[in-house]
Amino acid sequence: MSDTHSPTSISPTSDSTPPQELDVVIVGGGMVGGAVATALLQTNLSIGVIEKKLPQPFDPEAMPDLRVSALNHGSENFLRGINAWSALQAMRSQPYRRLAVWEKLPDLVNVLVPGQPNRTEFNAEEVGASHLGYIVENRVIQLALQQQWQPAENVTVFEDVQVNDLLTSEHSVDVKLSNGQTLRTKLVIGADGANSTVRQKAQLGLTSDAYNQHAMVISVVTDGPDQDITWQEFTSHGPRAYLPLPSINGSTHASLVWYDHPDRLATLLAMDEEALIRAIHKEFPESLPQVRQILGRGSFPLVKRHAQHYYRGRVVLAGDSAHTINPLAGQGVNLGFQDAKVLTDGILKAVQDSGDPGNPECLAAYENNRRPANFRMMTLMDGFYYTFSNDLAPVKLIRNLGLTAAGHLKPAKRQVLKYAMGLS
Ligand SMILES: Cc1cc2nc3c(=O)[nH]c(=O)nc-3n(C[C@H](O)[C@H](O)[C@H](O)COP(=O)(O)OP(=O)(O)OC[C@H]3O[C@@H](n4cnc5c(N)ncnc54)[C@H](O)[C@@H]3O)c2cc1C
Repeated sequence: MSDTHSPTSISPTSDSTPPQELDVVIVGGGMVGGAVATALLQTNLSIGVIEKKLPQPFDPEAMPDLRVSALNHGSENFLRGINAWSALQAMRSQPYRRLAVWEKLPDLVNVLVPGQPNRTEFNAEEVGASHLGYIVENRVIQLALQQQWQPAENVTVFEDVQVNDLLTSEHSVDVKLSNGQTLRTKLVIGADGANSTVRQKAQLGLTSDAYNQHAMVISVVTDGPDQDITWQEFTSHGPRAYLPLPSINGSTHASLVWYDHPDRLATLLAMDEEALIRAIHKEFPESLPQVRQILGRGSFPLVKRHAQHYYRGRVVLAGDSAHTINPLAGQGVNLGFQDAKVLTDGILKAVQDSGDPGNPECLAAYENNRRPANFRMMTLMDGFYYTFSNDLAPVKLIRNLGLTAAGHLKPAKRQVLKYAMGLS
């Protein structure tokens, strides 16, 4: 058990215990599950949160975690609306005002046309905003939400247990836990991530496709002042991305993402620190501040997944359990928060109208809203991935003309920016 163990957590019990009745059971207390639980606090529903491992408490002196997310304005507004934003900001987060993208050009082109002609830079000022988004450690987001839902009287936490089975009937679902306990509920929300047990047990179906690239995330200490820019350079092997992180005790931090063939990343993962720093400086663009120290690294396979159905009976999915996308534009959890918003707004209305949080009309409306929206973003990310991982000369020409034009077409640029910010 972690230090954050709730007084209302349930200890392991035997098979003979009668089912515990709860209005809603959320499987997964990660970023999306935590957001769903927090948004439902304004009801008097009894809520169970099942989480196999709650995060360690925040330590302001500790180095940044490896896993971070770029949160857009849509997510910020949602987290403000459920009163979790100030808790997040009280820990740590790094705003960025500018976002740049370009494709690495052959050296000869750079000599002939200096100054990255195909570079497009988006600036918050163009849409009258103070920032484009925030880079935040995933654990900080999870903890900020947990601080809201965990102490609530109507929330019961089931920690260090997993779901073994779901038995559904017309009016309820029995959730069988790995400790032998059974929960009986009107609605199960599967927010248990990409390899969702809920999705499998409820037979919601899955379409999936693995990309040829993996993403290596590298947490580093750099020279120089805090940066207000995040950037991505596309290369034929995959993008190289820079995400600024907040300073800790006067040292500047960043998260680098190196997309490449899995074999290449395996070699990089095995390198000692000095060799990896050399490889980073050889491979990343000159705009990367000098890397002083590697704090952590990890490689993640990239798989596009989409649940064929978002709900069946009284079981519904949200976040990565319903969809995973290529992270090259940092949209995964932003989509998950939109799921959480639409789903919980629907549940609040269903409770008001019918008293039933698992009302099938509410779940159908959620699926009709979110499945096409998530599919659109998935398709867009696929478009980027295939367009930029292609060495055919005409495709190269078109994408560079596209990048150059994007920098000059102000109305189109504003529209792209608003979409990326989660504002349209
Ligand atoms: C390299 C990389 C970079 C990314 N960068 C960004 C970014 O910049 N911006 C962005 O928006 N997104 C980004 N993403 C995507 C983002 O990380 C995911 O979309 C997000 O983590 C999904 O949150 P979730 O809560 O749905 O799932 P998860 O984060 O996977 O959380 C699931 C939770 O459920 C728990 N759990 C799992 N199974 C069970 C079970 N059986 N019983 C109980 N509990 C269970 C887990 O312990 C976990 O706490 C990135 C992804 C990758 C791989």
